[in-house]
Amino acid sequence: MAAKKTDKQSESKLLKDKLFSSKKHAGLLMDKDEMKKCFDYCEEYKDFLGQAKIERQAAKFTVEAAKAHGYVPFEKGKKYKAGDKVYYLNRGKAVIFAHIGTKDVHEGVRLVAAHIDSPRLDLKQNPLFEQDEVAYFKTHYYGGIKKYQWPTVPLALHGVIVRADGEVIPVNIGDDEGDPVFVVTNLLPHLAQEQMKRASTEIVKGEELNIMIGSLPFRDDEASEKVKLFIMQLLNEKYGITEDDFVSAELDAVPAGKPRDIGFDRSLIGGYGHDDKVCAYTAFSALMDMDKTPEKTALVILADKEETGSDGVTGLKSAYLRYFINDLAACFKMDGYTVLSRSECLSADVNAAFDPTFPDVLERRNAAFINYGVCITKFTGARGKSGTSDASAEFMGKIRRIMNDAGVIWQTGELGRVDLGGGGTVAAYIANLDVDTIDIGVPVLCMHAPFEIVAKTDVYQTYKAFTAFMK
Ligand code: MN
Ligand code: MN
Repeated sequence: MAAKKTDKQSESKLLKDKLFSSKKHAGLLMDKDEMKKCFDYCEEYKDFLGQAKIERQAAKFTVEAAKAHGYVPFEKGKKYKAGDKVYYLNRGKAVIFAHIGTKDVHEGVRLVAAHIDSPRLDLKQNPLFEQDEVAYFKTHYYGGIKKYQWPTVPLALHGVIVRADGEVIPVNIGDDEGDPVFVVTNLLPHLAQEQMKRASTEIVKGEELNIMIGSLPFRDDEASEKVKLFIMQLLNEKYGITEDDFVSAELDAVPAGKPRDIGFDRSLIGGYGHDDKVCAYTAFSALMDMDKTPEKTALVILADKEETGSDGVTGLKSAYLRYFINDLAACFKMDGYTVLSRSECLSADVNAAFDPTFPDVLERRNAAFINYGVCITKFTGARGKSGTSDASAEFMGKIRRIMNDAGVIWQTGELGRVDLGGGGTVAAYIANLDVDTIDIGVPVLCMHAPFEIVAKTDVYQTYKAFTAFMK
């Protein structure tokens, strides 16, 4: 009797194995050798993340690295052939890299689009003021943040000031050893009774995100605003600027410091700006590491302005991608729209990872988990799939085959439980150009916080996914 029961059990087990979906932790699927490669690769990524705090730095870093890999500026009207490598830098803040494939461009291109801007505090155009003998910068936050997370975090300042004479002065302070940092203050709990009664969106209000920049006075009994004057004197000595020059500046306050390993096992990386430099770097390095000419022309686009809705000349709603494809197509005597219609795109952006401390915001069966590989998201949007391009079953099927054939560990995810919240990516803007597009990227914990978290195995599987798609 007992033996018979066992037979039945093993029969159902076999059937289950055959018919049911099963996902495994990447740590159980990756062998020692692959895990070593994964950890080594993540050191490269951490180096990039620590240096590329804002889009200008990410663009500069990738262009310099691409030049070393033989990439040259794209030239309109030039004849290109398989194996040629070009890039187009848009205003120092967004870049397109292309590796011309062996197949004709008229068969379409394969593009991977990520963004290199991240949420932060931008300085206003008249930022400098003194209050009660302390000097501050006024800010307007950039992207979707929980404002109360940003006070008491050491901040660095990055960007440029365009002086009255037109000279562009780079500003990078707070991230080098020995640099000072800046900070937004917050109340002590002892005196925060009233503050803690505010709605959570107002615990720290937008106009309270003032960055402290100094507290010593200019030594003169006559002048008012002596602290502001002393700061302005220092800035004039260092950058040659006057207060009016801030009107033509872009200065971004971002969390200072380098990314760090998290955990006794060092399995996670904590740092500022994983969204979306983690997809930008995995896409970019997959293109750079390509050991032979790809079949279809491979493009990596690193875009700006995603966090504020992709509007503006360097955002992906701008026509620059379309113009680039038009110019590229013209080099092969083709129409740009024909190339676009036959192209395929991975919209490379992060998705929310399941957080065991806050399990209710995601629906388990469709949530992305850390260490379960790169996350493919068929649709984003909110409330009845509004605002998503929603990839077709056919395209999802194709991507699934590419991932499986290459042995990539992957999962699916969605941006939150139905009707809870939601969000979008650049996918819709590219899909609207008649390009088959799907979202794919690394699951992230604490997204949009000053310190975001990713799992190393997922970073590496994402790199593998982009390699498989573009080869
Ligand atoms: Mn993103
Ligand atoms: Mn984001």
